[in-house]
Amino acid sequence: MNDTAVQLRAAFAPSESAMPPSLWAATAPPGPRLQRLAGRRRTEVAVIGAGYTGLSTALHLANAGIDCAVIDRHEPGWGASGRNGGQVLPGLRLQRVELRRIFGSDVGDRTYKTVEAAADFLFALVERHGIECDLVRGGSIRLAHTERGMALLRENHAALLSEGVASRLLDAEAVKREVGSCVYVGGRLDPRSGTLHPLKYARGLASTVLGAGAAIYRDSPATALRRDGDHWRVSTADGEILASWVVVATNGYTDRLWPRLAQTMLPINSFQIATAPMTEAQRAAILPGGACFSDTRRLILYAQRTRDHRLVLGGRASFTLADRAADYEVLLRVLSGLFPQLRDTPIEYRWVGRVALTRDRLPHLHSPAPGLLIAVGFNGKGVAMTTLMGKVLADHIRAPAEPPGYPVTEIRPYPFHALRQPVLHLAMSYQTLMDRLGR
Ligand SMILES: Cc1cc2nc3c(=O)[nH]c(=O)nc-3n(C[C@H](O)[C@H](O)[C@H](O)COP(=O)(O)OP(=O)(O)OC[C@H]3O[C@@H](n4cnc5c(N)ncnc54)[C@H](O)[C@@H]3O)c2cc1C
Repeated sequence: MNDTAVQLRAAFAPSESAMPPSLWAATAPPGPRLQRLAGRRRTEVAVIGAGYTGLSTALHLANAGIDCAVIDRHEPGWGASGRNGGQVLPGLRLQRVELRRIFGSDVGDRTYKTVEAAADFLFALVERHGIECDLVRGGSIRLAHTERGMALLRENHAALLSEGVASRLLDAEAVKREVGSCVYVGGRLDPRSGTLHPLKYARGLASTVLGAGAAIYRDSPATALRRDGDHWRVSTADGEILASWVVVATNGYTDRLWPRLAQTMLPINSFQIATAPMTEAQRAAILPGGACFSDTRRLILYAQRTRDHRLVLGGRASFTLADRAADYEVLLRVLSGLFPQLRDTPIEYRWVGRVALTRDRLPHLHSPAPGLLIAVGFNGKGVAMTTLMGKVLADHIRAPAEPPGYPVTEIRPYPFHALRQPVLHLAMSYQTLMDRLGR
């Protein structure tokens, strides 16, 4: 590792985590002790953003013997990776037929095959590196809130069966047994999925990255990114990195670092609440088999049961980026509607994180200049996919003559992105209404 030009500020040894409060922040062991970048450092690959995407990229690069350094504005897992619902799900928001329509049949099929393996990929990585993150393979249940939702689930089920996946359809009675809620028409169980503790996973991944020989710097926001001769210059407040390659992995927390990139995504707030540990009777009734769930509403609801038997329920409650008490009220009402058994159970934690939506509902891989790769837009379904995307990015850097394992697209901003707040507010009200009407 070429570290000679690095002048680390020896006095900087943060003892306090900058993580916003959440169940995950309260129950994860501290992350590795990291320093801020100070002075100039040369490396082969500079990675901006220490969520799962950036960390997995760094891990796969380091394992391939490629020198790399990761920087984060805050600390590893500070973004969505340390705050999410912990559902490890294969695939994307779009089905095979839609991928074929967008990318053509060959690339669509290849992409589908790649992304459907994302959960398996994460399970194998966690096992290989012995990352302690409460990973359980309890399956995931997609719940239909209407007959129309159920028809879609039946279609998905048939497609999965034809691929050899042991998908299972559940009627309302089976949902009551396996989920503990009476409000759904039915569901579909995918046994390939599981759950984890998101922040333990992010911090475990960060320690594994360090163990593999890569560097991570915290409290080091990239403030400028520019090409200088045959290398890239990434500036931070107190330092800079010179690198042959740069990977931008900032997802819902993307700023103005690269022109027009932030305008390709709608960052929205997704809220979560965590109950106190459930009683024996509640445990017997609610997700007794350890599955997680999400539903077919436009404004999707999702939940997992944690290792200490809390129910963590999340939902997209707001397109504004503020963290307001009223938004949690929505979730509290939903919780007692879904699970009247939990009406008197205290809520011990509540928190919010930013999901990055894209127009086509797909994650985007961009390569807008030589040596620059950008992977963003995981549309709230990125725990497994970001982990896999890290390998895709590292593989491409290792063998740039080969096409990347995920389609590269142009940076295409949303039209009228600047007007997004009022427009999204209207869209949100419309979607809430449609959900209420069961459409
Ligand atoms: C509330 C919530 C619930 C979710 N639930 C699930 C779920 O159950 N299952 C699932 O599959 N997906 C879920 N997701 C989505 C999933 O969490 C994300 O897709 C994934 O974590 C994104 O990882 P990432 O590494 O790309 O980005 P992030 O984890 O968001 O990391 C981006 C990082 O970039 C850093 N950064 C930004 N700008 C700069 C800069 N200029 N310089 C340096 N650093 C910078 C930030 O500090 C941040 O740490 C959820 C998301 C949220 C918000």
